[in-house]
Amino acid sequence: MADFYDLLGIDRGASQDEIKKAYRKIARELHPDVNPDPEVQNKFKEVTAAYDVLSDPQKRQQYDMGGQGFGGGFGGGFSDIMDAFFGGGGNRGPRPRMRQGQDALIRIEVDLNEACFGTERDITLESAVVCTKCEGQGTANNSAPSMCPVCKGRGETQFVQKSFLGQVMTSRPCNNCSGYGSVITDPCRECAGDGRVRARQTINVKVPAGVETGNRIQMAGRGEVGAGGGPAGDLYVEIVEKEHEFLLRDGDNLHVAIEVSIAAVSLGTTVNVETLDGPVKVDIKAGTQSGAMISVKGKGMTRLRSTHRGDLIVHVDVATPQKLSRDQEKLLKEFAKSRGERDGDVKIKGQREGMFSKFRDAFGR
Ligand SMILES: [Zn+2]
Ligand SMILES: [Zn+2]
Repeated sequence: MADFYDLLGIDRGASQDEIKKAYRKIARELHPDVNPDPEVQNKFKEVTAAYDVLSDPQKRQQYDMGGQGFGGGFGGGFSDIMDAFFGGGGNRGPRPRMRQGQDALIRIEVDLNEACFGTERDITLESAVVCTKCEGQGTANNSAPSMCPVCKGRGETQFVQKSFLGQVMTSRPCNNCSGYGSVITDPCRECAGDGRVRARQTINVKVPAGVETGNRIQMAGRGEVGAGGGPAGDLYVEIVEKEHEFLLRDGDNLHVAIEVSIAAVSLGTTVNVETLDGPVKVDIKAGTQSGAMISVKGKGMTRLRSTHRGDLIVHVDVATPQKLSRDQEKLLKEFAKSRGERDGDVKIKGQREGMFSKFRDAFGR
């Protein structure tokens, strides 16, 4: 067993405050939830045992005088043998009050424009923060927890259990101290001994360009603070993309449907199409068919973590006039006649033409 003062990296004249600070700093780094490596866990137990002794003036004095019985509180014995049999172990001894905090998840809605170009958002949420009154210790007036009288600081109690090996001694966490090995007799009034309180906090979230529904932005250490002033978990901000009035997203591409008159598609025209970048001129060639798709390069969505932009795909619908004046009717009849069209004329399209070709593409045939 290493020297307790060396373990905490303090000198023998360190004040209670210095001891506490040194322990909290090390515990944040070595905590099993942060660093589950068994070697680090053992080190954590040693440091916790050292703190347990040095933070108690009476025990510290005894230790300074070379007192016995400070083997860390997990001395060998029958339970060690049982653990070897039943695969227990690894978690004996008092458990630390300081624990890793929980992760938190919050969803935010962004519109298509924000999803494309990125945005910044201040979000307010309620979460567990360190109690400022006791600095996470959970005790009032900077007092230390006292040794649990039931388990004598071991954090566990032993009892006899019947098993196929006959009667065996086994242990379970102490009920009196919930396994901490110590009890807070004078809890902090602010947090009732938990070391943390709930508070509203405002967090600035930077949403990168190119996000889509389901993307999560991880904000390390912005989740809930752990009990006993333990390190905070992470905050995850999940993106929910709002539906756009007329733009439909498909990965990096955007789709928009426009309606053009029969005269315009026949003669060819240029139209203004509203995009995320403002209105864009789109040329419609003479003879464009209904259902034609025109790609506008670089007017789609931004690709996440890149400056690449997808395309805007303009779907052309030809609008058939539904009401004609007498004059228009006459003109159209003349138009048809000049093209040699007769009433009842129809052209059957081949399988590879027209709408079937789209179904083929869709089913990959
Ligand atoms: Zn408190
Ligand atoms: Zn106890």
